[in-house]
Amino acid sequence: MDIRIEDGIIVTMNKGREILKNADIGIDGNRICEIGDVKGEADFVIDARNKIVMPGLINTHTHLPMTLFRGIADDLPLMRWLKEEIWPIESKLTAKHVYAGSLLGCLEMITTGTTCFNEMYFHMDKAARSIDESGMRGVVAYAMFDFGDTGKVDSMIKDGRKKIKKYNKKNKNNGSRENRVSASVGLHSPYTCSKELLKRAKEMADRLKTMVHIHVAETQEEVENTKKDWNLRPFEYLNEIGVLDKNVLAVHSIWADRKEIGLIKKNGVKISHNPVSNMKTAAGVANVPEYIRNGITVSLGTDGAASNNNLDMFEEMKACALLHKINAMDAGVVPAEKVLEFATINGAAALGMEKEIGSIEVGKKADIILVDLDRPHLVPLSNPISHLVYSARGSDVDTVLVDGRVLMENRELRSIDQKEVLKFANEQAKDLLEKAGKEDRLFMH
Ligand SMILES: [Zn+2]
Repeated sequence: MDIRIEDGIIVTMNKGREILKNADIGIDGNRICEIGDVKGEADFVIDARNKIVMPGLINTHTHLPMTLFRGIADDLPLMRWLKEEIWPIESKLTAKHVYAGSLLGCLEMITTGTTCFNEMYFHMDKAARSIDESGMRGVVAYAMFDFGDTGKVDSMIKDGRKKIKKYNKKNKNNGSRENRVSASVGLHSPYTCSKELLKRAKEMADRLKTMVHIHVAETQEEVENTKKDWNLRPFEYLNEIGVLDKNVLAVHSIWADRKEIGLIKKNGVKISHNPVSNMKTAAGVANVPEYIRNGITVSLGTDGAASNNNLDMFEEMKACALLHKINAMDAGVVPAEKVLEFATINGAAALGMEKEIGSIEVGKKADIILVDLDRPHLVPLSNPISHLVYSARGSDVDTVLVDGRVLMENRELRSIDQKEVLKFANEQAKDLLEKAGKEDRLFMH
């Protein structure tokens, strides 16, 4: 055995949702080999006394490089925010900016307990490199949109196929996909992609056996435009052109009506719910209680740090629970255990990885975090699930393992150098904002 985590409170998130007291976890290579009273020699021991040991959190919607735009433009309606603030900066982005922002995002996620994320942005190679170097697990989308200009579709599909294949190569020795980095097909949205692009990209995803990651029904404006163009609502349109199935992760999905929720259910589409971003941009409230009633897989995402403005999944869990209670005027709706499922096992299912990650079970990959209970806001320990959703913060995470490797121990980082990543991110943010003529947005420039 390589690692033994000793004497912790294990919130397993297994089928029976068991919580074990004073229990150990044995890790061999990158997988969990034993749970309970684990004996035998271990090369490395982690003391988990007075700590909650749980599956690493899974963030199913990110645009990591947007960490460089954190706080530069707030409090604007979504379309104005995009058109006047975000798109002009993005037009000046280089691969180096993307790399710096991705590393910063990985650093923030590791230090707040996220072990796996689902990314969509330009220069996917740079996000992949940051995952590789930081030791995290992630899915990077080859992001596509054509604003109706179908002349670009052929070249995008060809380039996308090459890049996705590169990351999803099977392990030569055992035929499995053992890589921490994998790739998916990213479609920005039904309103920024032509019908031809949507259909051909979905065909490509099916051939490559990978998922489609797409924003759907984020704003009322999108619904109105889709109705005007196709006489259909966004999910009806995607269903009509054959894009919806169980390998599609729809992000936001705020304005899906009852009929569309029926289509989501029928096709087994998964949802990435981003409550903080949706509240901040005043886009609306997704009908999560109805998604749950229909047995639809709901997962949680932060969205980019420009509309959140952090990547802390503990904050996201609390916001999720509170938003639906006040929206329904019902304190019992979307309870804590459900929210913890969204952020762990459902996140894994949303990415098609539920057999590998998302819970602490023998045979699963060792993506595990430890939450330190020695904090004023976590005493007394009445209910571990309640504490994780309503009281804890990302900064309470003290140790993080991904793929059987310790990335942070007692808040000390092992895979990347915090000082260097912060310096690089500051330099690149300054450079980017100067190029976009918005350098005055930086407090220190
Ligand atoms: Zn997004």
